[in-house]
Amino acid sequence: MAHHPDHPPSPSPVTVHETLSARVLIGTGSRHTVPGECARLGARRVLLVSTPSAARIADELADALGPVLAARFDRPAVHTPVEVTAEALRLAERAGADSVVALGGGSAIGLAKALSVRTGIPQIAVPTTYAGSEATPVLGETENGVKTTRRAPGIAPGTIVYDPEPTLTLPPGLTLTSALNALAHAVEALWAPDANPLSDALASEAADGLLATLPLVLGEPTHPGHRARLQTSAWLAGLCLAGTSMGLHHRLAHALGGTYDLPHAPLHALLLPHVMAFNLPSAPRAATRLVRATGGADPVAAVAGLARSHDGPTTLAALGAPREGLRTIAERVAAALPPHPRPVGADSLTRLLEEAF
Ligand code: NAD
Repeated sequence: MAHHPDHPPSPSPVTVHETLSARVLIGTGSRHTVPGECARLGARRVLLVSTPSAARIADELADALGPVLAARFDRPAVHTPVEVTAEALRLAERAGADSVVALGGGSAIGLAKALSVRTGIPQIAVPTTYAGSEATPVLGETENGVKTTRRAPGIAPGTIVYDPEPTLTLPPGLTLTSALNALAHAVEALWAPDANPLSDALASEAADGLLATLPLVLGEPTHPGHRARLQTSAWLAGLCLAGTSMGLHHRLAHALGGTYDLPHAPLHALLLPHVMAFNLPSAPRAATRLVRATGGADPVAAVAGLARSHDGPTTLAALGAPREGLRTIAERVAAALPPHPRPVGADSLTRLLEEAF
């Protein structure tokens, strides 16, 4: 295969794409299929993991599961701290759980992955944000403030239920930052060194759907049709995250978020237009697709405008990053960056971060 047009020729001409096996149920009211999906897995002792924000829908699901519900855990935390996992694991063991259902954002889904990886029990994910973790074989965990990430096919939930109704309550600010978090997966897939025809198709469709629908959802947050398209676009973006190497944007977000404990989705939303402005001039093919997705507008301006709307984060300073740490972050990221459309050095990255600051 020819090398990716946004990259210098790679030493290996072979593109590898691995497909995860998952059963995905999409549609309004699809959460009501969860008890049937549990039965399909042969589950008789279900652990329900949910965030307080999803309490009403979790209660409803608990009722529907009836005697099959073995226990509930409603305190998942961002970045999957191992202490929280240990507590949930004790509960799962006491309850004899043979499966786990996660209802919530990336925090609930991360906890279910962490439980499944330790016990081998199957998972059903019912996402309520656009982070995309349910579509990936990746688990990030924190221990003593250090975040480590592992990847294995068995980490990904085998069943995903995309019901737009639980997303109707997501406030505009979280909707905005979470959808831009999803957009970042698609944008980075477009300039990834291992981009392939499938990831290009997924990323283009994801970017089209996210950019076209996000303003509609922000204007009318409880419109089920708009929410549904935003959700399925976020699914495709999650598949991009699963199937291609994420580059500068995710490296910066990981380094900044992990070092300074910054909020996940707002950090992605803030960084994305800065990284796009940095990379797109050197990634013409990605730029062409993103111009198409914005209906002919400048994609950087479009994303920057969205990111600033609805009380979106405006500066790294406001998110809580200290200015004196930016150079170290830039050096660390520049030293370990995979093949990238534009040459990256610690100086140019420091400038990028200072602008975001
Ligand atoms: P989250 O799950 O922490 O949720 C953010 C906030 O939104 C919480 O306060 C939650 O209660 C609230 N919320 C969620 N859904 C809601 C709804 N429908 N209505 C009202 N409030 C709602 O955040 P997230 O951004 O979804 O996930 C972030 C976490 O996921 C991080 O730990 C991140 O590292 C991880 N993540 C992992 C992957 C992966 O592939 N492993 C991918 C993306 C994110």
